[in-house]
Amino acid sequence: MNSLKQEILTEVMQRSGSGAALSDEIWSYAELGYQEHRTVAAQIAWLEAEGFRIERNVAGISTAFWAEAGEGGPLIGILGEFDALANLSQVDGALTEQADQDGQPGHGCGHHLLGTGSMLAAAAVHAVLKRHGIPGRVRYYGCPAEEGGSGKVFMARDGAFDDLDVCFSWHANSVFAMHASDTLAIKTAVFHFRGRASHAAVSPHLGRSALDAVELMNVGVNYMREHMLPEARVHYAMLDGGGHAANVVQANAVVGYTIRAPEMSDAEELFDRIVRVAQGAAMMSETHVEVSVKSGLSNVLTNSTLEKVMFRNITQVVGPVQHSNEEISVASQYQETISETDVIHACKVFAKGEDIRTPLHQGIVPFDGTPTRVPVSTDAGDVSWIVPLARCFGPCYAVGTPFHSWQMVAQGKLSYAHKGMFAAAKAIATTVIDVIETPDLIVEARTELDRKRRGRPWVCPLPADLQPQMAEL
Ligand SMILES: [Zn+2]
Repeated sequence: MNSLKQEILTEVMQRSGSGAALSDEIWSYAELGYQEHRTVAAQIAWLEAEGFRIERNVAGISTAFWAEAGEGGPLIGILGEFDALANLSQVDGALTEQADQDGQPGHGCGHHLLGTGSMLAAAAVHAVLKRHGIPGRVRYYGCPAEEGGSGKVFMARDGAFDDLDVCFSWHANSVFAMHASDTLAIKTAVFHFRGRASHAAVSPHLGRSALDAVELMNVGVNYMREHMLPEARVHYAMLDGGGHAANVVQANAVVGYTIRAPEMSDAEELFDRIVRVAQGAAMMSETHVEVSVKSGLSNVLTNSTLEKVMFRNITQVVGPVQHSNEEISVASQYQETISETDVIHACKVFAKGEDIRTPLHQGIVPFDGTPTRVPVSTDAGDVSWIVPLARCFGPCYAVGTPFHSWQMVAQGKLSYAHKGMFAAAKAIATTVIDVIETPDLIVEARTELDRKRRGRPWVCPLPADLQPQMAEL
């Protein structure tokens, strides 16, 4: 094994104690998007102690920052997240659903591990480059509000990723695998119809119903479904039905739409059609409609050049994660609380159909450079349009643990959650070493990105005047 990579593994494990403590601390803060102040303070303190230079308030967001170390050479980004989910407070290590603090947030997507694992990778790379005087810079990104706040898109709109050569990230999961998934682009918008109020019995002819307009719009969009891309998804939610009284013609009604499609250009096209349906509904009902775009995420462009290098490191340098009998027995108790369907789903979606129905994944999911399609959306998508991005999954939870579940929160501080985080940190950091030692990889990864963009630049899916906020939908 390359001796620098051997040193990387050692550097990560030298920080395993402080890394585990930091992720546990962030788990207990469990802060929602754009409110991650204590989390960010803890991460910055840890990174400053490692010798990183801190850039605060990135894109004018008080919980967005980056931390950079090293001199000269290529500039490698490592993305971190740290926001929690609403109403998922859960007692650590409990085997039943049991809120620690009623109604409070909890780390149901493992972002306390995500951010910390990425920091461990950045710190290990910095330590090794510094020891050997190797030129190269590593920049950890503290990205707020992944869950419904499009944090990275606001950072991207501000140019935060423009000077990177390549970028890496990971996500906690129940498998050790590459996270090479084409996701869906998404756009959300709110349609506010305004009509004229009137007594529905005394003067119905004077009223113009905004609620009728919403119903006509929904019918129109439902007729569109036969004529959209099969991969596209259109969801809607009634945000304001106008009121509870049936004897009043509703003067106001609001409906929210979420549109998903393979690429942002497809989502934009569908969005334009939906706007026309809304205008048609307004015309039919003699109301007015106002459309406000609330959020948008681009699809992920996977980068097999970097992914193959990362996978080689996972198989040849990092290796599968091993667990003690005790850890396996704890995980099997969690697995008993999870339905068989969830476990089979995890095998299908994340393990390419391989039967890994063990309590903990102690293997590595094969990867040949071919991406899978997962019908979800993430704000890492926008980063992947700007700079070549590769991601992996770290095996942190009992196999089949559903995302955003109490089981995921409950396992977040267990030793096997930490082990999965260390494995992911090693996978990222060893791959950064490859990129620094073989700069041709940057050229190759960029060429692949250019090919996948087919001459199209990244277009920010957010309106220029939209301020960072949690989505209403
Ligand atoms: Zn997540």
